[in-house]
Amino acid sequence: MLADLLNKTKTTLSFEVSPPKTEEEFNAVFEKLDSLAALQPDFISCTYGAGGSSAGKTVEMAAYIQHRLNIDTMAHMTCVGFKREDLQKNCELLEKEGIRYVMALRGDRPKTMSDEQFESREFLYAADMIRYLKANTSLSIAGGCYPEKHYEAESFESDLRHLKEKVDAGADFLVTQLFFDNDIFYRFREKAVSFGITAPICAGIMPITSAKQIGKSVNLSGSSVPKALEDMIAKYGDDKEDMRKAGVDYAVRQILGLKERGVDGIHIYTMNRPKTTAEIVAQMS
Ligand code: FAD
Repeated sequence: MLADLLNKTKTTLSFEVSPPKTEEEFNAVFEKLDSLAALQPDFISCTYGAGGSSAGKTVEMAAYIQHRLNIDTMAHMTCVGFKREDLQKNCELLEKEGIRYVMALRGDRPKTMSDEQFESREFLYAADMIRYLKANTSLSIAGGCYPEKHYEAESFESDLRHLKEKVDAGADFLVTQLFFDNDIFYRFREKAVSFGITAPICAGIMPITSAKQIGKSVNLSGSSVPKALEDMIAKYGDDKEDMRKAGVDYAVRQILGLKERGVDGIHIYTMNRPKTTAEIVAQMS
């Protein structure tokens, strides 16, 4: 059980990978997975395209990681457009492929979904899907959480109340949205405990290796950019390799700080990049 691993004294190391969009890139991703596996993470999670656009590819990559690379794998799954039958079908596929871990997410509302469709969705929130998975499958389940609050939540407190519901519904552990300021994580963790959330929490770390990447990551995650990161981009942003190295250093400093403060797990958003991930892993113990 991954949750047991996370309850041990050692900080767990995990990676996130994603199915590339084009067929050519998808065919090339397996070599990258081989290199990432050589870094011996405790588990690798594989994302799910918004609205289920890459469901088959998620399962194909997850099965490769589990059976060919022999590393525990966690398939992400979003339920925003799911009917009960879709969820059941997806679970059967995971079971058939021998995948035992799922990151259960509600997912963002697809642009093509009308107000009516969104409001009448079968699983309103991730907690509803988690409750269903617990009752109907033997999958182990993780949930997402947001140190800077989810963008739809009315308040930090209401988001934590709902996070507690997600854990009570059956999430064995949590993985955070990426963040660039460890103090934000420490505050979140402390507050989560005060809401009765005792499930292990993996800290999501994304190395920023180009000036362009920061805009995209911040847009998608809503994470704030501290001055130290802004300064780093201003200093190195024009030189590709210097910027990459500075991004690695920044991530390593975040990770060492988190480990010192007893974080349960480090989850690296690898962007399918073995070289950068290897440099981080080499410096993080
Ligand atoms: P929920 O937990 O359902 O929460 C969504 C919002 O609803 C929050 O604001 C919450 O406070 C609120 N809420 C919850 N319960 C209630 C309630 N009972 N009443 C009122 N409000 C409530 N997206 C993808 O498309 N593919 C991926 O692979 C993917 N991987 C991710 C991995 C991680 C670690 C994280 C943190 C996010 C990931 N996402 C992914 C993004 C995620 O799908 C979006 O952030 C989505 O908008 C929320 O999903 P959730 O499961 O956190 O939602």
